[in-house]
Amino acid sequence: MAKSLYPVPCPRCDEAQNVLPGGFDPEQAPFGPVTCMVCGHSFTQDEYRQGMAEIAAKRNAAQGGASNVVPLRPN
Ligand SMILES: [Zn+2]
Repeated sequence: MAKSLYPVPCPRCDEAQNVLPGGFDPEQAPFGPVTCMVCGHSFTQDEYRQGMAEIAAKRNAAQGGASNVVPLRPN
């Protein structure tokens, strides 16, 4: 099942260069592992989901609330 995922900025170094496991699903438990390619930070599920929410908000803002935003989790 393909999902649209966007790189989440690292809370430690602010670089959006995530290393994701194959078949990664941010909703699954146990989470990840998701790590930062730059500093090696290991994301918690809360950090990752927070980052996804911020990206979604930025994308919405950038497009002025238009309805053609690519969903993070298409059905
Ligand atoms: Zn980092």
